[in-house]
Amino acid sequence: MTELDADVCVVGGGPAGLTLALLLARSGVNVVVLERSAELNRAYWGEILQPGGLAILDSLGVLGPARERGGHELSRFQFLEHGKALLDIDYRALPRPHNYLLSMPQRHLLAALLDAARPYGNFRYHDRNRVTELIRENGRVQGVVARGPSGNTVVRARWVVGADGRFSLLRRLAGIPHGRQDVFDFDVVWVKLPAAAETLPYARILRSGGSPLLTYPSWPDSLQLGWTVPHGGYARMMAEGLDQVKAELARSAPPYASLIDAAITSVADLSLLDVFAARAPRWSVPGLVLIGDSAHTHSPIGAQGINLAIQDAAVLHPLLLKELRAPGAGAVEEFERRRGPDIARVLRVQAMQARGMNSGGRVARFVRPKATRILTRTPLFGRITREIVHGNPGIRVAAELFRPPEPAKE
Ligand SMILES: Cc1cc2nc3c(=O)[nH]c(=O)nc-3n(C[C@H](O)[C@H](O)[C@H](O)COP(=O)(O)OP(=O)(O)OC[C@H]3O[C@@H](n4cnc5c(N)ncnc54)[C@H](O)[C@@H]3O)c2cc1C
Repeated sequence: MTELDADVCVVGGGPAGLTLALLLARSGVNVVVLERSAELNRAYWGEILQPGGLAILDSLGVLGPARERGGHELSRFQFLEHGKALLDIDYRALPRPHNYLLSMPQRHLLAALLDAARPYGNFRYHDRNRVTELIRENGRVQGVVARGPSGNTVVRARWVVGADGRFSLLRRLAGIPHGRQDVFDFDVVWVKLPAAAETLPYARILRSGGSPLLTYPSWPDSLQLGWTVPHGGYARMMAEGLDQVKAELARSAPPYASLIDAAITSVADLSLLDVFAARAPRWSVPGLVLIGDSAHTHSPIGAQGINLAIQDAAVLHPLLLKELRAPGAGAVEEFERRRGPDIARVLRVQAMQARGMNSGGRVARFVRPKATRILTRTPLFGRITREIVHGNPGIRVAAELFRPPEPAKE
């Protein structure tokens, strides 16, 4: 058994966990990250970053190195119904320099965050370590137990951060309910097709004959489709056979019908995402705080998850430092008070987007273009767009708390 001591143990090396760990390491905090996975590859995991997330990554100095690994700038977000643009957001019209969407494999972001954190002697990253238990003493979480390739690792820490994603074990072990809200009546099936040379650098929702479909260029050379299917209905569709599923998909994406036919040869080419929203009713218990998807989970429509996870880390960083310096000050509880309203707004906007995008039938088809045209001329539309693009614009990195790096121990 290995035993480690830390100020903070972060469980989960996703965007939330690694961003927070980097911020803490730069502030002189002794931080251990435990990550169950052996590698950074997260196939079909969040790929699109909004300007709000880009700005934070840039001020951390990791946006450039992440982009050098590869990614596509997308200049527009469109909602097309039968080829006609009902909604067309031109990201180039936003203030520079973060006036684009970035489509980038999540592993590029994670690798850049890790590279930035590794020079700090007070940062330790243990992959292939799956946390299985919380250590609780005197009514407080005091650490975790993880199972790894060389046996158990016990990490004792003043604070444990649950950054372990949408099905968070830490949340469950702490007795905090998931807060799942089944507000979406669709799931998403992800597919990668070889991108044609003329593929536009746009993220688009297409509404044609079938159910709505998200498309965007995925690095290096694919077109990613996110096909919405009725919630819980994928197994029924699959029971009718792959050819039938392909035909349905082609009906939703007529321009890509021949690519779909050629590129999908087995069930393994399709990946199902159970879409739900969730907000845990509380984000901390003494000694443990949840961030990112473990505290609140979102639909992939609107590309919010990574951005919110990164922003969570930026908000929690100074509060956790305050709590470490003055234990019992209630700074960690302040995190949920500050961040909760932002999350509630995003959940509301996403539910509204889903209703607008998915409502079917002749009346909806008649009303949608008119309603969209009216909405896009109102101040409400500007507010919604700003919410999606920037999140809370007041969130910044507390760089004044950083210290020069201590050299990494051999
Ligand atoms: C298919 C899909 C597509 C998406 N598309 C987008 C998008 O385009 N844009 C966007 O912004 N968001 C998108 N999202 C959401 C986005 O991926 C998440 O919101 C984001 O990754 C959340 O970051 P996180 O760090 O909170 O959690 P995660 O990224 O889920 O990271 C959690 C980490 O914890 C680790 N872990 C879990 N359990 C344990 C354990 N017991 N012990 C140790 N480690 C553990 C996991 O291996 C993982 O590395 C998408 C999500 C999915 C599922």
